[in-house]
Amino acid sequence: MKLLEYEGKEIFEKYGLPMQKRIGVLKIGDSSEKLKFDGQGPWVIKAQVLAGGRGKAGGVKIANTADTARELAQKMIGMQLITHQTQGRALTVEEVLVEEASDIGREIYLSVVLDRKEGAPVVIASAEGGMSIEELAKTRPELIVKTPVDPNCGLLDFQARELAFNLKIPAGIFHEFTELAKSLVKLFIEQDANLVEINPLAITRTGKLVVIDSKIVTDDNALFRHKELTSKPDHEASEIEKEAKTIGINYIGLDGDIGCMVNGAGLAMATLDTVKLAGGNAANFLDVGGGATVEQITKAFQIILKDAKVKAILINIFGGIMKCDNIAVGVVEASKKVKIGVPLVVRLEGTNVERGREILSTSGIKIEQANSLWEAAQKAVKAAAGN
Ligand code: GDP
Ligand code: MG
Repeated sequence: MKLLEYEGKEIFEKYGLPMQKRIGVLKIGDSSEKLKFDGQGPWVIKAQVLAGGRGKAGGVKIANTADTARELAQKMIGMQLITHQTQGRALTVEEVLVEEASDIGREIYLSVVLDRKEGAPVVIASAEGGMSIEELAKTRPELIVKTPVDPNCGLLDFQARELAFNLKIPAGIFHEFTELAKSLVKLFIEQDANLVEINPLAITRTGKLVVIDSKIVTDDNALFRHKELTSKPDHEASEIEKEAKTIGINYIGLDGDIGCMVNGAGLAMATLDTVKLAGGNAANFLDVGGGATVEQITKAFQIILKDAKVKAILINIFGGIMKCDNIAVGVVEASKKVKIGVPLVVRLEGTNVERGREILSTSGIKIEQANSLWEAAQKAVKAAAGN
């Protein structure tokens, strides 16, 4: 699950990280009068979208007066933001964060990521943080330091000190920095994160350490351990994905036009690859689970067909514990319940496959059958193209 900047900062706060004073979050429909300013300003107004690069795209503005800050916040709500991280797509700004701005002297990059090669969290840092970190990673990778961490002990004191020396942290905030780095690793482990990033971590002109930006991505498989996260809206999920989740279907929307219904995540991934190899594009990843009952198949049809891009449906089910004849009955019954309206290609394999195929071919429902995944993918691609 990806958190918005202000949601991440709420977690940072619990770990005692030094933050800018938060004035408030404005949502669509809110009046900017809701923002209660106190202090001198200036203020920083920030679009809350799940992408970095907002600074360069007009999603971060500084205002010297409260009135200008209100005006900019109001203007930013509803704005379409395209940053170098959105792959050309525009994100609608639904929330805007307003904070007291900092007088930034230096920008540092600091993150903790799960490094699969190391099999451990790794702290990544650079003295040259800020908006061009991706560029730096390409052109001067030697300026980026990496410290693998034992998840059982967290970041050790000597590692934190080494990191501070590498980043040329001034003596006055040396200890504060090492504590911050250790807390960030603690947060990463306790929150079951895949990524925790502060970019930039600023040293202000008056020598204070301040977290300017936050990015937290947590592991969905550990969500059950974090009740406070499950109650938050999943900003990344589409409406169809949210609905699929509530009815217990594992669905991820994709850009293509072939709706896929598969049992088992591995087989579903293989199906997407094979569709691609056959020259098509899947509209979704969908794992109906091992059961593949009439009820589950009916729900899966309903979810797949909610996506208006779908021009054909490919069912690829392996009958292991669940026998193919039972699955075939399930497909036939579900097809009667749901108005499908697009070509249906079915590939069954496994126990009682002959009986299953016979049930499908004598059902009276227009189903194109395939004897292999490759044949099924080719037929689905053809059907989606209207051939
Ligand atoms: P991102 O571009 O989406 O990563 O958004 P950030 O929150 O990292 O902000 C982008 C840039 O805006 C930062 O690197 C800073 O240079 C600038 N910025 C953000 N907040 C402040 C602030 O409080 N004061 C100043 N002076 N600059 C800021
Ligand atoms: Mg940033």
